[in-house]
Formats: sequence, structure tokens, C-alpha cells
Amino acid sequence: MLATDVVVVGAGYAGCYAIAGLRRARVDVVAVDPTGTMDMLPRLAAVAGHADAATDAAIELTKLFPHLKIVRGKMKRFRKGVVTTEAGHRVRGRVTIITAGAQPTEPTIAGLANAFQLRTAADALRLRAAVGEAEDVVIVGGGATGVQLAGALSNSGVANAILVDSASRLLPEFHESLGSHAKDLLSARGVRIELDAAVESIQPNGVVLEDGTELIGLPVWAGGFRATMDAFKVGPTTEGRLNIGDDLRVEGTKDVLAAGDAAAHLDSKGNLRPMAAQTAVQAGSGAAKNAVRMLRGQPTASVAMRDLGWVVDLTGGRGVAQVGPFRFATSGLDRIPPYLHDFIDAKTLYEVGGVKAVKRYSPGRQTTPPEGLDLEFLQHYLG
Ligand SMILES: Cc1cc2nc3c(=O)[nH]c(=O)nc-3n(C[C@H](O)[C@H](O)[C@H](O)COP(=O)(O)OP(=O)(O)OC[C@H]3O[C@@H](n4cnc5c(N)ncnc54)[C@H](O)[C@@H]3O)c2cc1C
Repeated sequence: MLATDVVVVGAGYAGCYAIAGLRRARVDVVAVDPTGTMDMLPRLAAVAGHADAATDAAIELTKLFPHLKIVRGKMKRFRKGVVTTEAGHRVRGRVTIITAGAQPTEPTIAGLANAFQLRTAADALRLRAAVGEAEDVVIVGGGATGVQLAGALSNSGVANAILVDSASRLLPEFHESLGSHAKDLLSARGVRIELDAAVESIQPNGVVLEDGTELIGLPVWAGGFRATMDAFKVGPTTEGRLNIGDDLRVEGTKDVLAAGDAAAHLDSKGNLRPMAAQTAVQAGSGAAKNAVRMLRGQPTASVAMRDLGWVVDLTGGRGVAQVGPFRFATSGLDRIPPYLHDFIDAKTLYEVGGVKAVKRYSPGRQTTPPEGLDLEFLQHYLG
């Protein structure tokens, strides 16, 4: 059995920020992760839709963290400080940080398994290949993932996009203006948008709506994500996310922390925070700091989280965003979100892997800020 100071289970956004913080503190760390890459989830729609290069989907962990000890595999069991993978490898940490993310939701829709998913770099590359052979793509889900995929497809022109949602507007989780401007942009690019349209079944070649309408095309499920931490019995969960204290310690445990989509992060009103990269990176850093305190026998500290907002990049130099009190959801201002997206990706890579990581992997296309963009504003709100 491998023994270490800290085991990080899942090397995505939260896990990589945790690993970076632990390495800076010169703590011995082992990552348990099935792919050995950091998947750039907010880039996946652009990759799948042929708007960005396939290489934008992920970066190898060893390029971010030279000599990082990685156990390739999925955690199957966690008992008494020992992580056991599906292949039977075992790693014991004095502290464990669980950052294993989430999975696409699986509602009871007949034929859901026929749909492509978009959660991992592998999903994006599979979908990219299938999209290359398809004339039409039916995307089920008008949230951020579905809207970004429709944006990428309509920008690249590789296939026609049909976007379906049972809600009466796009991006229902954000301010109305973001959804309505995204709808205008996508419609102008020829995307067919079907709202108030519940899906009854999914076939290999399309979907059938509850009113009997058939939409023909490659089906993609973009109906949201759910953590599955209940399966591991590490601690109590809410909607599959581990219940944590304000120091990110899993309730009922002494030496297990959780961060990112796998953790039930609450806002100041006690509501579950949405699953977001910005939450994951702040929590990953906070988990690393508290893990170091635990190793040193010091009391842990509460981890403060800032609400930074959302960027929905439609590629083609357009998108919508809400950053702090500012909304970018009108003609002209919609040029800013793709730049913000590139900026955030570069910032993420820099914070995780330093300048070398930014040089080795520079995703996105837009390299110069749109005219009038105040860089001080960016620094202020994005840190
Ligand atoms: C297509 C898409 C677009 C998105 N766009 C945005 C956006 O624009 N802005 C935004 O803020 N958020 C966005 N999100 C959400 C954001 O990417 C996630 O909230 C964020 O990645 C969560 O970070 P995480 O580290 O918790 O999980 P992840 O980044 O998913 O990392 C989890 C890691 O755990 C690994 N893992 C899974 N199961 C196990 C296991 N059993 N054992 C070990 N390892 C395991 C996975 O392989 C992965 O490497 C998007 C998500 C998707 C899918």
C-alpha cells in the first residue's frame, strides 16, 4: 500500500488547486484520478462542437505538476483513511481531500443511454468525432452546457444544432437578460430552439417530445450534473454532495476534506452553491491550506468563498456573462465574455502550473482584449 501525507481523490479543478497548494507547502501528495489529465470542462463544448482544437480539452497532470505521484484509477471504496481504486490499488493518506466532481444526471427518460454526454475530455472527443459525421445535432438542455455547445456548432458550421428545453427560456439559472440575448445570438446563427418542450424519449437518431414531435439528429444529453458521493459512504450528503463544515471538513470525520462539485458548499443564506469552476478552485485552495494545518496539528480555518459570476462563451467572439454586478448581455458587450473565458483559463493554468503551464497549453482563440475592456475591472473581480 502506498502511504503519503495527503491523498487527493480526483484531479479536476478543485483537485488541481489542492495539489498546487500542497506542493507549494512541500507536503507529500498522491493524486488518485482515472485519466491523469486535468480536463478543461468549460472548454469541452467548444471542442465537441469543432470551434476549438481537440487539444484544448485537457492537459496532462505531469505537465502541470512534474514528478507528481499519480495512481491512475477511480476510487471505489474509502475506509479508515485508505482509498481503494476499482483496480484494487490502495493509498493511505494522513489527510484525504475528496474532489471527485460530478456526473451527468440520469433522469428516467426512455433511451437516455442513446444520448452523448459532455462531462469529460473523453466525452468531448467522442462527441466531436460523432458530430463530424452528423448533419444535425439535437441538444437536450438549454443550460450553460447546451447553450455553449449550440454556440460552438453554429460557429463552426460542422452540423446544424437544435436546442430543446422544457423550461420557457434558455439559461434559466441566470438573469433573464443572459438567456434572452443568448437566444437571439443562437437564433441569428440558425440554431433551432424549442422551449417548453419536454422530451419523452431519446433514440439513436433523435428525440421524441411529449407532444409527439420528432426531432432528428445526433442526440446529446446536457440536462445537468449530479455528484454521486452517496455511493462511498464517506459522510452524510445533500443531493449527492458531501456535507461539509465551513473549514471543508466532511461532517463526522476528523481528517477528510471535500471541495468542488463533490462537496455541498453553501452560500451565506445556507443554500447550496451551484456547481461551478469558480467555487471548485477557491475550495481546492482552501482545502490544501486546511490539510496543511491538520498535518501540523493546528486548528483549521473557515474557507471564505466569493461569488465571481458566470461566463457562457458561444465562441465566434460572442457570449454572455455576469461578473460581479455587471452583465454582458447586449450587442457589443457580448464580445467581452469570450475574452473573459480565455483570461480565466490562462489565470487557472497560471495558478495551478505557473507560467510554463500557460505556455504549454493556451486554449481558446481570442488573444487580444476587445476594445474598451477595462483590465483593472477584471483584476478587481477575478482576483
Ligand atoms: C461542459 C461544461 C461546461 C462548464 N462550463 C463552466 C463555466 O463556464 N463556468 C463555470 O464556473 N463552471 C463550468 N462548468 C462546471 C465546472 O467545470 C465544474 O463545476 C468544475 O469542473 C468542478 O470542479 P471539480 O474539481 O469539483 O470537478 P471536476 O473538474 O469534474 O474534476 C473531478 C475529477 O475527479 C475525477 N474523478 C471522478 N470520479 C472519481 C473517482 N471515483 N475517483 C477518483 N477520481 C474521480 C474526474 O476524472 C475528474 O478529473 C462546466 C462544466 C461542464 C461539464
